[in-house]
Amino acid sequence: MICELIFTGTELLLGQILNTNAQVIERELSVLGIDVYYQITVGDNLQRCAAAIKQAAGRADLIIVSGGLGPTEDDISREALAEALQLELLQDKKALEVVKRFFDRRGIPYTTNNLKQALVPEGGRAIDNPIGTAPGIIVERAGKTYILLPGPPLEFNMMVKEQIIPFLESKLAGQVGVIKSRVLKFCGIGESLLDEKLGDLLRSTNPTIAPTAKFSEVHLRITAKARQASLAEKMIASMEIRITERLGSYIFGVDNDTLPGAVTQVLREQGKTIAVAENFTGGQLSYKLSSASGAEHTFVAGLIAGNYRQLQEKAYLQLSDIPQRAMERAEHMATMVRKQFSTDVGIAVAVEPAEVARVTVAEYNLYIAADFNGNLMLKKVLWSGEREYMARWAATMVTVLLWRYLKHGIPF
Ligand code: ATP
Ligand code: MG
Repeated sequence: MICELIFTGTELLLGQILNTNAQVIERELSVLGIDVYYQITVGDNLQRCAAAIKQAAGRADLIIVSGGLGPTEDDISREALAEALQLELLQDKKALEVVKRFFDRRGIPYTTNNLKQALVPEGGRAIDNPIGTAPGIIVERAGKTYILLPGPPLEFNMMVKEQIIPFLESKLAGQVGVIKSRVLKFCGIGESLLDEKLGDLLRSTNPTIAPTAKFSEVHLRITAKARQASLAEKMIASMEIRITERLGSYIFGVDNDTLPGAVTQVLREQGKTIAVAENFTGGQLSYKLSSASGAEHTFVAGLIAGNYRQLQEKAYLQLSDIPQRAMERAEHMATMVRKQFSTDVGIAVAVEPAEVARVTVAEYNLYIAADFNGNLMLKKVLWSGEREYMARWAATMVTVLLWRYLKHGIPF
């Protein structure tokens, strides 16, 4: 099934708002295996919107229009669809109920303008909007499906999730079957090694598996097509087992799981707490380790300062005789912060310019140190390039190293 998306709103063309509705609907459609070839943005203009709908109908089976269902002059999507399909707009009973309910609940009178929101092209039907005035509209005509949805993101998102996706799923079920997918998330393994280990599985056609490399993570999307959802889920589960047999120790989560979330979870399982001392990473470590769900039980404290001397003098870290070399300093800070906050784990990162600078870009030695109840662990990385990027990378790397050590005992 090919879909074309039309976003209406002059404010989108003026750069006044970001088209977040696009991201929401596109993610959902891709999970269903519906292809989007074109996405058009058009201002609040009846003729141009009608022309966009006609153009879309010439090359897609499903046309979704976002925005322009409000009661005012510039809300023209309903009229544009009627114009494009040469249909009359008629007052719809269900649509009128949705509009009236909104005003009745709030005890405010509705205007004749609002009655416009109860109009639906003949042969079409209204879809409920539990949190706004404008009902959505579905029109099926000459083998094409047209869907109109209100623009405000809360209403748009809710209607997509609760009504449009189930509607499309049942439509697809009659044609190609249901499409389900699941994302497995890996860390500590590069895309090329992953490719090599998966080999034959990557050529599987149903389910398909597709890797994408992210910042220190690789994601693998398994997508299955079947007559029923339960069958698609079974196919995904058996593929997941085969992948896990080969690469299970690298998988930290699925779908919406995050690496900081996985670290927090394993700390919780083991009843461990953590503290960090950071100057170089400027709070990024504290942010990652303190913001995941459940972190209130695992993250005790983070000391953030501009440099390690301030950590000692101003941030009350009881550092005695700070070692000059970054390597020892990282270890020392990790131990000190663990002791200071009586946690099981202490983490610190230290950086120094690399000694041999034969290249024109700056090179650094980066040290990530952890103290696990007195057991010291150190990772050294030679880095060339921007410091800011290195700091971001280091903060992510800490979560990778922590997860691998805590979960599987793999040393830094
Ligand atoms: P309303 O009844 O509020 O007028 P509507 O269905 O007519 O709803 P629009 O007028 O097109 O929708 O948009 C209403 C508001 O929703 C916009 O001002 C904007 O803040 C937001 N909005 C519209 N389209 C998008 C979009 N594609 N992405 C994000 N926000 C959007
Ligand atoms: Mg509007």
